[in-house]
Amino acid sequence: MSSQALYRKWRSQTFDDLVGQAHIVQALRNAIVANRIGHAYLFTGPRGVGKTSAARILSKAVNCEQSDPRLRPCGECSACRSIVEGRAVDVIEMDAASHTSVDDAREIIEKVQFRPTQFRKKVYVIDEVHMLSTAAFNALLKTLEEPPDHAMFILATTEFHKVPATILSRCQRFVFNRHTIANTIAHLEWVAGEEGVFLEPGVAEAIARAATGSMRDAMSILDQLMGYGEPQIPLSRVQSLLGATASREVETLVTAFAGEDVAAALSVINTIADQGADLRQFTRDVVSYLRGLMLLKSGGSADLLDVGHDVLATMQSHAQQLALASILAWLKIFSGLDHQLRTTPYGQLPLEMAVVEALVVPAPVVVAAPSPIRAGVAPVARPTPVPAAPRQAEPAAQQRPTPVAPAAAKVEPPSVEQPPQVVESASVTVAAVVAVQPLPEAEQHIVLAESEIILAEVEAVWLQVIEDLKPYNPRLQAVLKSCEPLGLEDNTLLIGTPSPFHTKQLDDQTQRRLIEDLLAKAVGRQIFVRGEEANRDQQNRARDARRQREEIMKDHIVKAARNIFDARIVGVQEDGS
Ligand SMILES: [Zn+2]
Repeated sequence: MSSQALYRKWRSQTFDDLVGQAHIVQALRNAIVANRIGHAYLFTGPRGVGKTSAARILSKAVNCEQSDPRLRPCGECSACRSIVEGRAVDVIEMDAASHTSVDDAREIIEKVQFRPTQFRKKVYVIDEVHMLSTAAFNALLKTLEEPPDHAMFILATTEFHKVPATILSRCQRFVFNRHTIANTIAHLEWVAGEEGVFLEPGVAEAIARAATGSMRDAMSILDQLMGYGEPQIPLSRVQSLLGATASREVETLVTAFAGEDVAAALSVINTIADQGADLRQFTRDVVSYLRGLMLLKSGGSADLLDVGHDVLATMQSHAQQLALASILAWLKIFSGLDHQLRTTPYGQLPLEMAVVEALVVPAPVVVAAPSPIRAGVAPVARPTPVPAAPRQAEPAAQQRPTPVAPAAAKVEPPSVEQPPQVVESASVTVAAVVAVQPLPEAEQHIVLAESEIILAEVEAVWLQVIEDLKPYNPRLQAVLKSCEPLGLEDNTLLIGTPSPFHTKQLDDQTQRRLIEDLLAKAVGRQIFVRGEEANRDQQNRARDARRQREEIMKDHIVKAARNIFDARIVGVQEDGS
């Protein structure tokens, strides 16, 4: 049996069979019963969700000879049967993807003027309508402007945005949903039952996940599995066919997370890598599972999850064991992995790093450091001075165990007894604190404002971003080469420019967005940019501050502080003393 055959064999024949599109079924049924059938329908949605099946059912319904419209299509009258068997001359199915030649499609469409031979309605089903040639589109448009009473068009497309607005405005549009996992599982189990094949637990779920919402793909996988001719399909066969990982492995990983068992978690990664499984798919499964936990944990209904019963039970138990904050932190780590896994030459390393990152117990905010380090951080050069905040680049070694005073808190003016150990700015409300060189009397602290850490991250990728600009906009690249990042305020990167011309380039919305997009890609967070003319002095100060930041960022202690930020364990200081 070919892979198409199973899908065709069990294709929905009536409105009742149409899986997972209840909203559409209801609307079409109502139209049939009320005899208010439109001239043109547009079915949009991903592939394999039943658009063509629905088109056939609708073609049958409008031509069905059953006297009670509520029972149409009956599936038994000669009209219904001839459509199912593909003999109906008045139902013209065409695939625009294979009828792109101008005359072909246009000619077919122009024949709509002739009355139907056998039926009440002449029905045109045009699949992948966005692929029609311009000439064919024009013919279609002309027809749709004054459609003959005897004609009906059912257009289907996976790429709705490619259909001209002139066509869209003349159609009733129905949006088909991707099939849910639960729907797909139910349908797979039903078909397997009808075919006399038993699916081991987990098989239907694994197929449904791999099919990502396409029933046609799900049927095709089932078809391949049934090709072995065995009465029972084992889970191992699905996994070897799909390179898919069972949801069980995702569950094992999360169990290891819950037990803070790094070894067990790494061993899961090792196992799936050894199996040659698709690591990106596995990561997506992990993210989807963690999302489920997040939803459950935050009071979401189980209906939102779209998982089978077995998985739901495990999820609920995990949700009980885990803290929402941990789930969110892991989601953040794993959802950022896809790109890395696609580009890494190091196999499963990004996944292993993610596991370690997820499970390393967050360090306390204040940590003792083994070696002395220069305390204090150079102020970031900012175009506008911040008078309220104390600025001192080189505080004297001090014997006060005081932590930090972010600017949001009250800051005492510098004095001999209590010199500021903190360099802060008004925009900073959160600070990471790392103690350095424990002294007999007390500790000293180094402080990096969060904005400074972000700024340093931006600076680290700045040249790369300029490089990345080249293929998109070489002129803008040239402009940016003579600009310098000055500082970060409210998540906006101030870029010092040498002239009003340069500033104007950065004011241009399209160009600014491009820089922002590339920047976001490079640092993994949204940062806005603003150009501002800066004199040579400001630029020099910015450059000096940047060098100092680079030094500090290189230091392992500050790296630790940055990790603390990543883990969102951030010391928020209430007061400076
Ligand atoms: Zn019928």
